[in-house]
Amino acid sequence: MSKKKIKEIIIGSNNTGKIREIRDLLPKKYKIFTPNDFNLRSPKENGKSFIENSLIKAEYYSKKIGKICIADDSGLEIDYLDKAPGIFSARWGGKNNNFNIAIKKVFRELNKKDKKWRFKKIHARFICALTIYGLKKNPIHSLGIVRGLISNKKMGKNGFGYDPIFIPNGSLLTFAEMQPSKKYKIDHRYIAFKKIKKFF
Ligand code: IMP
Repeated sequence: MSKKKIKEIIIGSNNTGKIREIRDLLPKKYKIFTPNDFNLRSPKENGKSFIENSLIKAEYYSKKIGKICIADDSGLEIDYLDKAPGIFSARWGGKNNNFNIAIKKVFRELNKKDKKWRFKKIHARFICALTIYGLKKNPIHSLGIVRGLISNKKMGKNGFGYDPIFIPNGSLLTFAEMQPSKKYKIDHRYIAFKKIKKFF
């Protein structure tokens, strides 16, 4: 366990959906900052894996702001699309990270692959890499995975990103149809967080 006592922490993201969720996981006594509080834009995510990209963000914000940072890099892997969009999940939404555009691209790519995909089980997984930077000598990493299926149409209004098309195993609802409090207890971010909870 770290001797350093955390009193304040940066959530290294400009994605409001992620910030809401990570804020919910962290102890309530922490003073929480986001890059927005310091007018900082995201660094270039040119890593080759979720872990590399989460490290790029956590290190960048921690060094710029001078505080401990927890950053997440996450995304959706669809088996039928050879694990796309993967680390490009945000980029499939275009310059403005528009989730409707990203979901349309998923359906377009599945259609290109197989016109009958809507009648098949399309296996997928959400992956979340978390990195804490500035707490210990070396960065702390964790990976969380939740498996499920791609829905053949958008369902539900909650959440963000690909939530309206992801049905986690064991559920009949998409993440976007669930109450956020339910989603937060089973998703990839929660699983990754549980593994590093001891540091908080
Ligand atoms: P990044 O980690 O900021 O590069 O972006 C990850 C992208 O993956 C988001 O913009 C979403 O499109 C998608 N994503 C990650 N986690 C979730 C989730 O919990 N629900 C829905 N989409 C997600």
